[in-house]
Amino acid sequence: MLLTQTQKAATSCAVMKVVDATRLREGAGFPVRRPFPTAQLAQVDPFLLLDEMGPVNWAPGEAIGAPDHPHRGFETVTYLLQGRFQHKDSGGHSGELNPGDVQWMTAGAGVVHSEMPHPDILKTGGVIHGFQLWVNLPAEKKMIPPRYQEIPTERIPDAQSEDGKVRVRVIAGKSLGVEAVIDTVIPITYLHFSIKPGGRAVQSIPHGHDAFVYVFEGEVQLGETGTRVREGQIALLDKGDSLAIGSNEHAELLLLAGPPLKEPLVRHGPFVMNSHEEIVQAIQDYRDGKMGMITTEESKS
Ligand code: MN
Repeated sequence: MLLTQTQKAATSCAVMKVVDATRLREGAGFPVRRPFPTAQLAQVDPFLLLDEMGPVNWAPGEAIGAPDHPHRGFETVTYLLQGRFQHKDSGGHSGELNPGDVQWMTAGAGVVHSEMPHPDILKTGGVIHGFQLWVNLPAEKKMIPPRYQEIPTERIPDAQSEDGKVRVRVIAGKSLGVEAVIDTVIPITYLHFSIKPGGRAVQSIPHGHDAFVYVFEGEVQLGETGTRVREGQIALLDKGDSLAIGSNEHAELLLLAGPPLKEPLVRHGPFVMNSHEEIVQAIQDYRDGKMGMITTEESKS
């Protein structure tokens, strides 16, 4: 007898592969730990890049960021844990990111922006720690108008496990009955789990989505078999409806999931399109000023 979708038993995800993140210096020299893209792992469709920024303790006058640069064809998501950032863009937006805040920027057809340490961090020094994620856009959405969602930490909902030992910050998607406030172009799950010793939770994974876990503190056990994954490692999950997550120590991790786009991918620095011709066009449009410019005086310093 054929089973319909709803009659199928729920299946739990298992860890397919564990890969070490690579430490490198990004851009002008910002130290990052990068789960992907690396030589071992090109992407996790629809995710193009994940960088753990720092933690780095800048001395006074030394903090660096990413001055004016363009993006087209995808989304950049910045989640700050420690420190303070200041950003500006060609649409005239500007703002600050403080610990716990999220900026979800849909670059779409194109934007020029700067992501810099706050002047106070530059002046007195301080710790910066956070994440930048790049989410690809499907071909038909690559040229949508740019859009910003800036969510202060107070508006990021928290979920809690039944044992009270797992707290989840729900940046996108759903966790343990709590829904995110951020609206995504394609359905994305972006969760930050903080686990106290002995904590355990079961996270549901949307049907057919590709998912991964990046551990950035401690060691965790994933899936029914309890595959161990430690700080600085990314675990790729096979398809399933749920993932058991637990730890015997204090641990921190990100869980990301999204529908694989399975489209041709052509990357060229800050542009991610489907064909070489579209990349040539993006470079031309940027040079022609079609993605705009940042016009405020401070950004030129
Ligand atoms: Mn950027």
